[in-house]
Amino acid sequence: MDIKKNIILLGATGSIGESSLRLLRKNKERFNLIGVSAHNNSKLLSKIVNEFDVPNVVLSDPKNAKSYYGKNELYVGHSSLIELAKINCDIVISGIIGMSGLYPAFAAISVGNNLAIANKETLVSAGKIFMEKSHEKKVRILPVDSEHSAIFQCLEKNNIDNVDFITLTASGGPFLNMPIENFKNIKPKDAIKHPVWKMGEKISVDSATMFNKALEIIEASVLFNIRSDKIEVTVHPEHIIHGLVHYKDGSILANLGFPDMITPLSVALNWPERINLNLKKLSLNNISNLNFFEPDYKKFPGLKLGWEVLESSCCSPIVLNASNEIAVDAFLKNKVRFIDIYNIVYETLNICKPFIPKNIDDIIEIDKIARIDALNLIKRKFING
Ligand code: NDP
Ligand code: MG
Repeated sequence: MDIKKNIILLGATGSIGESSLRLLRKNKERFNLIGVSAHNNSKLLSKIVNEFDVPNVVLSDPKNAKSYYGKNELYVGHSSLIELAKINCDIVISGIIGMSGLYPAFAAISVGNNLAIANKETLVSAGKIFMEKSHEKKVRILPVDSEHSAIFQCLEKNNIDNVDFITLTASGGPFLNMPIENFKNIKPKDAIKHPVWKMGEKISVDSATMFNKALEIIEASVLFNIRSDKIEVTVHPEHIIHGLVHYKDGSILANLGFPDMITPLSVALNWPERINLNLKKLSLNNISNLNFFEPDYKKFPGLKLGWEVLESSCCSPIVLNASNEIAVDAFLKNKVRFIDIYNIVYETLNICKPFIPKNIDDIIEIDKIARIDALNLIKRKFING
């Protein structure tokens, strides 16, 4: 057995955190968990620290520090989170939600740590700068998002020049079969009930609007350096096939598996090796039907924006992501309707075209401007709409 890999898990208390811990728990002889972070949930953080005896612990929001009871010392605040990501290790997993994951993930690769990244909002907004830094520092950026893990696995060893196009599958979310007339009545509690995956609230709403797939189009373009017109999306409700790479010679490689994030996490943490996870076996003999169809762009107009922003100014993905985060937050707080999410993003994209970002600080600045524009728009036009 090789020596153990040292892992730092950012966002240990979330859904990606939970899947990562399941993987580490099953493979204690392979991995040392040397660092963990949470934002608010200090009780769950304490439990994790005590189970895995994690030496480096951060709570990025100090508010709940008093209820921490872990056996190892707690550090608090955003700067401690960045310092945590910079500790020398084999792989940092980023399971933080939204743009809050940007600085710690960038800090990790800047000091030469490999990065297993689930936090797609960061790649959408700062992907180009991340990829450049990863080449400069000779570190790996390993996708955890299941569709991107699928493409990553089907692309490996094959030259990108021989790729014709790629397909990202989409489960279609909870409202796939709901008539469009009923969309105006959708409540947050309905939108966070995903039919296939158990995930955090924000990504669950993104799946319901299909903005998640728009973000994933941009994420794929960045990770694999592939043009927007070479990315296809197919609705596949069973979510057994996660992604396909179509080669120019007519050969198509697909990645299949039961929907469980433990597998893409295992691929990322063990790459290029694989380990036995002893999961339930998938036999095609037991799967009677796999369905595929074109997305309904009338019901899910946000999906089209994924392709459109890749064709427009390079600050548009940042604006799309920031305004979507603001709109989803307002929806979850019952301030705007489900159908307003698309209009808020669309209108913010039309009014907010700040400047071309050159570095991470520019990206944060554009993100801030877009958030203010989206919030003002909501106040002016959408609140209690
Ligand atoms: P969750 O909401 O379940 O978890 C988010 C994690 O980030 C928690 O540990 C939370 O801490 C922490 N966090 C929240 N706000 C901040 C902040 N401001 N600063 C630092 N840390 C913070 O999200 P998910 O696990 O569902 O998603 C995480 C990321 O992974 C997202 O970008 C999502 O798009 C992506 N992803 C998720 C998948 C999934 O299956 N869940 C699949 C593919 C991608 P606390 O609990 O203390 O609030
Ligand atoms: Mg995904």
